[in-house]
Amino acid sequence: MPSPSQRIATLTGDGDDGWQLFYRARAMKAAGHDVLELTIGEHDIGTDPLILDEMHRAARAGHTGYAAVPGVAALRAAVAARLSKQHGRRVTADHVLIVPGGQAGLFAAHHAACDAGDRALLIDPYYATYPGTIRAVGALPVPVPARSEDGFQPDLAALAVAAKGARSLLINSPNNPTGAVYSDESLSGIAAIAQAHDLWVIADEVYDTQVWHGRHRPIASLPGMAARTLSIGSLSKSHAMTGSRLGWVCGPEAVIAQMITLATHTTYGVPGYIQEAGLFALAQGAAIEASVAAPFKRRRDLLLARIEDHPYLRAIPPDGAMYVMLDIRATGLSGDEFAARLLDAELVAVMPGESFGNAAAGHVRVALTLPDDRFADAIARLIGFAETLAA
Ligand code: PLP
Repeated sequence: MPSPSQRIATLTGDGDDGWQLFYRARAMKAAGHDVLELTIGEHDIGTDPLILDEMHRAARAGHTGYAAVPGVAALRAAVAARLSKQHGRRVTADHVLIVPGGQAGLFAAHHAACDAGDRALLIDPYYATYPGTIRAVGALPVPVPARSEDGFQPDLAALAVAAKGARSLLINSPNNPTGAVYSDESLSGIAAIAQAHDLWVIADEVYDTQVWHGRHRPIASLPGMAARTLSIGSLSKSHAMTGSRLGWVCGPEAVIAQMITLATHTTYGVPGYIQEAGLFALAQGAAIEASVAAPFKRRRDLLLARIEDHPYLRAIPPDGAMYVMLDIRATGLSGDEFAARLLDAELVAVMPGESFGNAAAGHVRVALTLPDDRFADAIARLIGFAETLAA
């Protein structure tokens, strides 16, 4: 066969996407082992049956043909209304593009912001797809650290240095994998740097309904930021609709118009029955979002209580999202080694911090995604495992 493009051949950089542990846990499960999986950000509940009823109704009512590429008007308007409240300014349907999930939004936003060869900043630790998404548009991913010791708030001094000559900055608050919710100080520092260096800010806000402490403040709501921010949202996490692939990008009208042209040449829109179901889901208001989020807060609290004052495990208490980062450096193992040995010894799968960049080395990420009784069992096994290491 002819050789594939360099762009696709080098999408994951060194060819390793960092998810070996996840694949191994899945293979063990397929082979019949009862693995307790605390790996990916997938709820242990399905989509609410009322939302599914609406999806079915919409499909039967004929929403099965090509839908409007920018998104159906009512859904764009509903997202705009939601963002108007969050951003404290008037967001209209023309500022919103409906996309098949937040990931498609991240790709489209980088495509809109960056040319080939541009330096695209991201904060390390990062959601695993970020560097590949940046490479997919031909740009160069440049990680800037956020350290465990700083509660995983971004290092603003390092960011100011990296920003020279860069084109874009990708931020994610509430954060995966760390659970950090960016402080006012972080957000205003980022805004000042973005303005000083004329950067696009791509703000991944897919966890905005999962905040345990403080508040989620969209960076687009800061003075001068709406004109340079592309915000990404999704119903995956907020409404347990991961498989429906429904999200949005919000940004200045002119660039959204160009992204509609991109959508015409890539996704050609999102199925109409999915959009109708999303519209219905948003119309249910905050109660459904709170009920989807509540188990993660409960399990977060349980985990923090169980390892309080533990000699070898230190949690970095997350202010949001569905994960807890554990600092396991006191065990003497790397995150990779800890996760691999925990899986073999206890059939508990957590993600090595190294899967999310260099800044999370020596940590593991625990996803809060098993029913409470199985979650408590997994945590007991994890603690027991750490104690055998110490012994
Ligand atoms: N951004 C972050 C930070 C995520 O953790 C995820 C999924 O885990 C996504 C984006 C992608 O979400 P979606 O299902 O909306 O594509």
